[in-house]
Amino acid sequence: MLNFRAMNYAHVKERVAEIRGMISEAVSRGGHNQEVQIVAVTKTHGIEAVEAAWEAGLEICGENRVQEALSKISAVSVPVRWHLIGHLQRNKVEALDHFALLHSLDSSRLADSINKYGVKRGHSIDCLVQVNTSGEESKGGFTLDELLPEADRLVSAAGVKIVGAMTMAPIDASEAVLRKTFSGARKAREILQAAGHPAVELSMGMSGDFAVAVEEGATLVRLGTSIFGVRE
Ligand SMILES: *Cc1c(COP(=O)(O)O)cnc(C)c1O
Repeated sequence: MLNFRAMNYAHVKERVAEIRGMISEAVSRGGHNQEVQIVAVTKTHGIEAVEAAWEAGLEICGENRVQEALSKISAVSVPVRWHLIGHLQRNKVEALDHFALLHSLDSSRLADSINKYGVKRGHSIDCLVQVNTSGEESKGGFTLDELLPEADRLVSAAGVKIVGAMTMAPIDASEAVLRKTFSGARKAREILQAAGHPAVELSMGMSGDFAVAVEEGATLVRLGTSIFGVRE
C-alpha cells in the first residue's frame, strides 16, 4: 500500500465553498459566462482526501502519476471520476481505461499511441491537447505554431477525441504572463475547433492562479493545495 502522510481533511468542505465563491466572482469579472468544474488534485494524498473531496461535492479527482493513481482508484469506494493531469509514457496508454480524461496530450508520438489504443479498444479516448503558451522552455506541450498542423492531422485519428486544451503557467508569473498564457490556451481551443475537433474544455489554473485562469475562460481548474493544504 501507499504510505501517505496523515492529514486532516476536516476543512475541505469549507475551503471548497470558499473556492466556489471565488470562481463565480471570477466568471463574472471575466465575462466568458462559462461553467467551471474543479478537479481535486489528490497527488501525494491518501484516499481520505478523495473521500473528503467527494463529500464536499467534488466529482473529479486528478492525479499526475499513473501508478499512484491506480492504487488509489482501486482503493476508494466513492464514485469520483479520475483525470490524468501529468505526462503519460507511451507504453502506459492502456492505463487510460481508468481515466475519464487525459489533460496532457503533449506530443504527436503520444497521440499516435493513444489513437492506436483507442481504435483497438473500440471507442475513442477523451484528451486535452497540452499547449505551451507561456514560452517557458521547460514546459511540455505544443506551441501554437506546432498545434496548427497537429490539429489538422488529428482530425482523422478515430481513436482520440480532442475535447479541449490544457496549459500551465510559470510559477510566480506576473499577471501579464498569466493572461498571455491563459489567453493563448483559449486561442489553442479556437485552433482545435477550426480544425473540426469538439474542443469545448479549457483546463487551466492551479491554486496560485486559478482566479485569473477563470477570468480568461477556464472550464476546468486543477486545485490541490488550495483544497487540501500544502503538500510535503
Ligand atoms: C500538482 C498539480 C496541480 C495542482 O497544483 P496546486 O498548486 O497544488 O493546486 C495542477 N496541475 C498539475 C498538472 C499538477 O501536477
